[in-house]
Amino acid sequence: MKGFAMKKIGEVGWVEKDEPKYGPYDAIVKPIALAPCTSDIHTVWEGAVGERTDMILGHEALGVIDKVGSEVKDFKPGDKVIVPAITPDWYSDAALRGFSSQTGGALGGWKFSNFKDGVFGEKFHVNVADWNLAHLPPELSLEAAVMIPDMLTTGFMGAENAKIEIGAKVAVLGIGPVGLGAIAGAELRGAGQIFAVGTRPKCIEVAKAYGATDIVSYKDGNTADQILEATGDGVDAVIVAGGGADILVDAVNAARAGSVVSNINYFGTGDTLPIPREGWGVGMADIDIATGLCPGGRVRMERIAEIVKYGRMDPALMATHVFHGFDKVEDALMLMKDKPRDLIKPVVIIDENL
Ligand code: NAD
Ligand code: ZN
Repeated sequence: MKGFAMKKIGEVGWVEKDEPKYGPYDAIVKPIALAPCTSDIHTVWEGAVGERTDMILGHEALGVIDKVGSEVKDFKPGDKVIVPAITPDWYSDAALRGFSSQTGGALGGWKFSNFKDGVFGEKFHVNVADWNLAHLPPELSLEAAVMIPDMLTTGFMGAENAKIEIGAKVAVLGIGPVGLGAIAGAELRGAGQIFAVGTRPKCIEVAKAYGATDIVSYKDGNTADQILEATGDGVDAVIVAGGGADILVDAVNAARAGSVVSNINYFGTGDTLPIPREGWGVGMADIDIATGLCPGGRVRMERIAEIVKYGRMDPALMATHVFHGFDKVEDALMLMKDKPRDLIKPVVIIDENL
């Protein structure tokens, strides 16, 4: 079978591989819709998780079940499924402690396109199908549903980790698809004022549709200064969803006492990350910094699918570039790398009729 792979750091291309094998609890899935992630860009072109050889990329997919192991109870060949980016080992110590994305070590729940072949293959393997897959509700469009496995679960986690209370002031730094998911999450959690920090017009348009009340351009001056000027003493929650290491300085400086800086950004380079000493109250400001890798799991996918199904937000607004055909995965990934100004998220529809 064919797959689009990271050949080594800085190089991608098509590879031929044997079909994946599967155990009694596992499934083999064929993709029906795919999307590349900015994390794939960090992985290939920054070498952010280290060297990889001929590893098939991709971790955002909807699929149709091809085969299931003998012990799989709730899925059968032909079923359409949502495939989470994160497919933990649920029967592990970290999962039992409540941190399923970190099973087997930091980020260990992230298997696809990290240390296992990803979803940009004609077929891919899913461990423990009953726990890691969710049925795809027929009411959802493929363009909307393909945002669930990563963009929505990540953005919503950003809002959840930020502990947003009803009426809270929130700032979202970075309004690509992950930050836009966080804005929608803040709105769903009942935020009052929501600052969207970004510049691209298409992203700003969708940010407003998802609930942003104020737009701040980080190119028109210091982000924290602009937020402090508008609020007096800062916001209750800052969600970091873009930028380089220095963005944490803006985030902490824009926060007030009791605030959570909720990071969902992937820092692809550098050894350490700066925190502003004074802005952090010389270490005693009652400003927490939270981190997380997006939750996977069947229940999480089903819950987010409900939000889409009942029209609480429309993730299809983020699908700005829609390709058709498996071979277009390459174009979609390169578009994600180049990030033209009118891009939010490229999506590849493999076959509407599968
Ligand atoms: P993106 O590149 O589309 O969006 C980030 C945006 O931030 C860009 O538009 C960029 O111009 C902007 N930006 C740069 N500097 C900024 C600044 N100083 N202030 C405000 N904005 C600034 O990326 P994305 O696809 O939305 O992903 C965002 C991050 O989330 C990536 O690093 C990605 O790898 C990561 N990610 C994390 C998880 C997780 O589980 N935590 C999951 C998926 C993706
Ligand atoms: Zn991702």
